[in-house]
Amino acid sequence: MAFKRLSDLFKQDITNKRVLVRVDFNVPMKDGVVTDDTRLQAALPTIAALKNNGAKVILLSHFGRPKGKVVPEMSLGQLVPALSELLAANVTFVPVLFGDEAKAAIDGVDEGSVVLLENTRFYEGEEKNDPELAKQVAALGDFYVNDAFSAAHRAHVSTEGVAKLLPSFAGESMARELDHLDKALGNPVRPVLAIVGGAKVSSKIDLLENLVTKVDALAIGGGMANTFLAAQGIDVGKSLCEKDLLDKARDIMAAADKAGCKIVLPVDVVVSKEFAVNPPTRTTTPNDTKADEMILDAGPESVKALEAVMAESKTIIWNGPLGAFETAPFDMATVEAAKAAAKLAKSGNVIVVAGGGDTVSAMNHAGVADDLSFISTAGGAFLEWMEGKELPGVKALEA
Ligand code: AMP
Repeated sequence: MAFKRLSDLFKQDITNKRVLVRVDFNVPMKDGVVTDDTRLQAALPTIAALKNNGAKVILLSHFGRPKGKVVPEMSLGQLVPALSELLAANVTFVPVLFGDEAKAAIDGVDEGSVVLLENTRFYEGEEKNDPELAKQVAALGDFYVNDAFSAAHRAHVSTEGVAKLLPSFAGESMARELDHLDKALGNPVRPVLAIVGGAKVSSKIDLLENLVTKVDALAIGGGMANTFLAAQGIDVGKSLCEKDLLDKARDIMAAADKAGCKIVLPVDVVVSKEFAVNPPTRTTTPNDTKADEMILDAGPESVKALEAVMAESKTIIWNGPLGAFETAPFDMATVEAAKAAAKLAKSGNVIVVAGGGDTVSAMNHAGVADDLSFISTAGGAFLEWMEGKELPGVKALEA
């Protein structure tokens, strides 16, 4: 999809122009202190570029789930110290989202200044995408920039409503994310391998159904692989398995077959009688799982087989761990496969994009987060994009 970028915005003189920028400042905090500033950092390139071009940068974000009410502990005002430090500049906080007070504050700052408006979700209209609220907020800006891919699956005032009322552009982080997603699934170099793991098939039906029509191979791991194994008539003992989804799993395999997508399932598994740290385990074939055992990871042969498919691929897209990776030793398959993917990404011959849910922590756990082509921290938006859904916040930026 073609979308407008900051470079398009900068074709005109934006000195002293008011640019509304949707960021995702929904950062984790403890005792009033930001404990992980990744999301603040992610917005810095866009803010800096706009400042350098003389714009007044007006930041919009949600924080927490105040559900349309003012909840003082969720005020964005508490982010001002961390944000000013990162920017090495003053940040003017305005305790409202629209109206005369906000307008006066914006009018009163110099070019290149940064203004932070109050939590968008303090207003009922935000999540309802209320056109009146959108009008009020849009009245504060000349242009709109969305730099929050992680919120782009929501059609809210700050992600979609305002975008429709002003000339709109993707910020640097948003553009980087969209460019990588396009390389991974939109317009990929083939063959494409998707690796999908995680606990349950039920949360990933749409995603699997979309992927089988788009990728050349789909490797299924984690708890959800058990449902696929069971769908092939294998008794998976006490393993996590969604018995009500066996037909669905068979449908997905049939759809893959029809589309020419190869399904890769574990050929060996690590089983245990208890789900605990370092319990007695054994590695065996899936059909050898005993009634009192559960499959908690893929085995070394499965990793080898997956690595062979990886080596034949030009693009790899990954969501979800291949085992119960938070509990040793059931992180083996995830860690080894992640290392192999990282090696391919580093070689420069393969694009590896990972994201969604627990995938970021799994890649961090494997120590490869910096070695992949791209890691999306967007969660829900990343998954909806993998499901092939149109994201309203992205659609609104269409060129
Ligand atoms: P998801 O949020 O759907 O990506 O699922 C991630 C969770 O799946 C992680 O917490 C893993 O521990 C869990 N998981 C992966 N494989 C298994 C398995 N074989 N049995 C139970 N849980 C698993």
